Amino acid sequence: MAVTTVPPSGPTSSTSSASAPPSPRTETLKSIAPATGEVVGEVPVHSAADVQAAVARARVASASWGALSFAEREEELVRWRKALAEAADELADLIHRENGKPRLDGLVEVFMALSHLDHAAHRAAKALRAEKVSVGLLANFRATVSYHPLGVVGVIGPWNYPIFTPMGSIAYALAAGNAVVFKPSELTPLVGVKLVELAARSLSIPDVLQVVTGAGATGAALCKAGVDKLAFTGSTATGKKVMAACAETLTPVLMELGGKDPMIVAEDADVDAAAEAAVFGALTNTGQACISIERIYVAEPIYDRFVDKVVAEVGKVKVGGDDGHLGAMTSSQQVGIVKDHLEDAVRRGARALTGGPDAITGNFIQPTVLVDVTDEMKVMKDETFGPVIPIVKVKSTEEAVRRANETPFGLGSAVFGKRARELADRIKAGMTSVNSVMAFSAITALPFGGVGESGFGRIHGDHGIREFTRTKATAEQVFNLPMNMMSFRLPRNAADRVRGMIKQLYGSGAVARAKDLLGKLGR
Ligand code: NDP
Repeated sequence: MAVTTVPPSGPTSSTSSASAPPSPRTETLKSIAPATGEVVGEVPVHSAADVQAAVARARVASASWGALSFAEREEELVRWRKALAEAADELADLIHRENGKPRLDGLVEVFMALSHLDHAAHRAAKALRAEKVSVGLLANFRATVSYHPLGVVGVIGPWNYPIFTPMGSIAYALAAGNAVVFKPSELTPLVGVKLVELAARSLSIPDVLQVVTGAGATGAALCKAGVDKLAFTGSTATGKKVMAACAETLTPVLMELGGKDPMIVAEDADVDAAAEAAVFGALTNTGQACISIERIYVAEPIYDRFVDKVVAEVGKVKVGGDDGHLGAMTSSQQVGIVKDHLEDAVRRGARALTGGPDAITGNFIQPTVLVDVTDEMKVMKDETFGPVIPIVKVKSTEEAVRRANETPFGLGSAVFGKRARELADRIKAGMTSVNSVMAFSAITALPFGGVGESGFGRIHGDHGIREFTRTKATAEQVFNLPMNMMSFRLPRNAADRVRGMIKQLYGSGAVARAKDLLGKLGR
């Protein structure tokens, strides 16, 4: 059985778990339910030495795990998937308590995470199959691109989707043959611990997946612990710190950061469908999604109808309670940011058609529809990460595209209308949903990631599996040729022959014919 939770250093040796909290002599971290203030559980604060020890154990595990065949790893990961599926309600309940979202949303999150684990497990063999590539002029060679595990991957996750988001790195890194050390957010550590405990019962190689808990310092220690890649999901500000720390050891990084996702609604869009999707895209998870709709640009002729419909739909959204659509915000700090954005907008002339800066009770925020917003307002520039829907009237789709792209971020986006597919290609973002919102995150074969201040690198799909490998180029000489360019034994007229080849292949005249011939030969 695999060891999962890292024993903390110091006077005690108790392991981290919600049911068996460590002795008070060890520094601990309490997980507090944002909806009620109750203590959900406690985990140890792992020191830099603890993190290094975990990475050392992962290094040992990675040798055995990486040596398994794809079919063997698939079998192992499918066992873990089944264990997680069996525990779906327990996991959803834990997500609900630690993160504040409704239980149903917790279940949906588990479902989405499992779809990615399943995809990564089954797909890795195909995604990482070695490829023969063209040898060009080196006709006596065979050329292959192959993909190999990196070794140990560090994963640092956020609190907003505490299973789905890190699973985008964990599942794909494991399927590619790496061991993983996971640092969950200090706000949702127990979900991370549970995820890894279930892996321990399912995976036959100890320490393939371990969890280290604590606050930012534990994450910072993971950056410096000698991992072969660090997959970070979180805010742009912290991402820059992580990158700087990783730069000291040239540790490669994957950056899944924040966003300011635009939605465009063209004149010929289905207004009702677009409004309903906008409300879901902006409000699901109380707006705490990196791919939340954060700005909406609507064509003038349909603007009034769209706004009316959005307001009507928002009126049906229930906040809090067992049957609520929106739960508590996960962090009171984030509540402060949302309030600040709303106050800034109203002060600068925006109108709140629902909600508003005063419609906040503790960690519960009533959704706000904002109109008369302008580009200099915080709510239009910075990531709000809360239940706010700013709507802007535009004269044309050209204006909508231009303003959608006027942001340093570039994560998700959505376009509604008859020409939406065409417009989608013009949005400067890693992902776009056409006549829908957020759908790209649920399609397991699609790569997920951003550009600009939203980060770089990709999780999910074949790109996501390859992200956790090193690409290897192999040139294999199959037979010798009289003129071997990789040797000093060249004929006297070598220079003339090279000159001739340059002219023939790359000069004017014969170029097209020669290249055509090589192409036909498959070279
Ligand atoms: P943070 O950046 O605050 O934290 C992310 C993780 O980094 C946490 O585990 C945190 O630990 C850890 N951390 C904090 N400081 C350091 C440090 N110096 N070195 C290493 N690790 C550190 O993000 P949030 O948790 O607030 O998550 C919300 C953000 O995540 C939003 O901006 C959202 O857009 C983004 N996000 C991006 C996604 C994407 O795929 N692009 C998906 C989901 C969210 P601790 O919590 O213990 O401080």
